Amino acid sequence: MLKTNIKKQLMAIVGQERFFDDDETLVAYSYDGYVVESRPDAVLFPLATEEVSEIMKIADQHRVPVIARGGGSNLTGGTVPVEGGIVLNFTKMNRILEVNTGDRFTVVQPGVINANLQKELSKVNYFFPPDPSSMGFSTIGGNVAENAGGPRCLKYGVTGDYILGMVVVLASGKVIRTGSCNVKDVTGYRLSSLFCGSEGTLGIITEVTLRIVPLPESYRTIVAYYNNLADTAETVKAVLAQGIIPTAMELMDKVTTNLVEDNAGLGLPREFEGMLIIEVDGVSEAVSSQAEKISKIAKSFGAIEILEAKSSQERESLWKARKSVHGVLSKLAPNCVTEDATVPVSKVPEMIIGVRAILDRHNITAGIVAHAGDGNIHPVIITDTRDTEEWSRVETAAAEIFKLAVELRGTLSGEHGIGLAKKQFLPLVLDENTRELMSVVKKALDPAGLLNPGKFV
Ligand SMILES: Cc1cc2nc3c(=O)[nH]c(=O)nc-3n(C[C@H](O)[C@H](O)[C@H](O)COP(=O)(O)OP(=O)(O)OC[C@H]3O[C@@H](n4cnc5c(N)ncnc54)[C@H](O)[C@@H]3O)c2cc1C
Repeated sequence: MLKTNIKKQLMAIVGQERFFDDDETLVAYSYDGYVVESRPDAVLFPLATEEVSEIMKIADQHRVPVIARGGGSNLTGGTVPVEGGIVLNFTKMNRILEVNTGDRFTVVQPGVINANLQKELSKVNYFFPPDPSSMGFSTIGGNVAENAGGPRCLKYGVTGDYILGMVVVLASGKVIRTGSCNVKDVTGYRLSSLFCGSEGTLGIITEVTLRIVPLPESYRTIVAYYNNLADTAETVKAVLAQGIIPTAMELMDKVTTNLVEDNAGLGLPREFEGMLIIEVDGVSEAVSSQAEKISKIAKSFGAIEILEAKSSQERESLWKARKSVHGVLSKLAPNCVTEDATVPVSKVPEMIIGVRAILDRHNITAGIVAHAGDGNIHPVIITDTRDTEEWSRVETAAAEIFKLAVELRGTLSGEHGIGLAKKQFLPLVLDENTRELMSVVKKALDPAGLLNPGKFV
């Protein structure tokens, strides 16, 4: 609980109506998309950079932890206030401040929901490429702080590739501005890159300038079904090896599609082991030629059925099937854990087969989905952490999955970050000197350790 004098000071900044410390609110902000819970002492809804700066000054003076939070959809415990403190909820600081198509950028507040930004940009024939499956409820602040990805990041790159500048409130309450609105800007250190992916541990992002891209002229969306998972994964490797970079190449295994079908009834066939959704976009002639080449490759790798979306509705329902996976599976058990290990694309077949073997060996119910073109593999595990025997099997399997990824020259996370969930595995990929440098950076920016404490640094 916050001391009365601190509470009074904070209320003077945000007013009574944007300050909460009742039990219901504290419970609601004690968890996110992972499985750990810990209550904050208060939840505040700032509306402006100046307010965040004033809040940080008070937190610094009284040594109170501060945890930035957007949609709370991260899957690694990144917003869980493990040491209590103040949650800054940015969902009310959600204005799109500028859309500039001439200079190809937009300026947004951190609480803007990704899908709302896409909607506004589409009105002027532009888009922001990063498209996490959570885009309907995750915020740009959260996307930036996690360096989020999504299906079309295969062709377009991840959130970090689109950040031109930021306004950041430091642990001391000082406000800094990184970058600018220029596509080219090499004036000094690229500080935006430091804050991107820092998971709220280095500063609080209160404004972001993002590069935007014109909408493509046309799309072709192919779906291919296979009798075995190895051929499904080999197709991904072959498409890229032939120099075709689709917009997205998403893989789903039979366990996933059958669970989705059982629970959402989207009309997916059941008798196959692997499914690929491959989309290409661009000018019509190039897109048609790529789609034909992809269909040929899929066939040569044993696809038993190759179909193409014939309308935008068909295209949307395919993407709905893919993007509903986490939501559907998470309704089937008290807990859902989505792992995020990533390998070079040449190792995708080995990784997919290896992950399925690990899950089966530990008798774990899980589907496998993957942003396969990026080597980003998501085993979606449904479990109950209260069943300690089962949870210990899940933890053992997760450790084996990370070990396998590293053996294949991969890494712990392609897009979900580290948070609490993967903290213990960091030494697998970051050596002591590198971890020490990260601690030095953290101490330089947040000497009292107030920003999102207990997380990966
Ligand atoms: C169904 C589902 C599907 C998903 N699909 C994807 C996917 O395809 N790709 C992907 O990358 N992720 C995906 N995720 C994970 C998650 O949605 C992303 O990590 C997203 O970027 C989190 O955004 P958020 O607004 O919910 O952030 P939160 O969960 O609220 O916060 C995430 C992290 O960012 C920090 N943070 C938030 N706002 C700020 C700020 N203003 N300043 C500083 N730090 C801040 C927090 O402290 C925390 O560490 C998915 C999650 C779900 C539940």
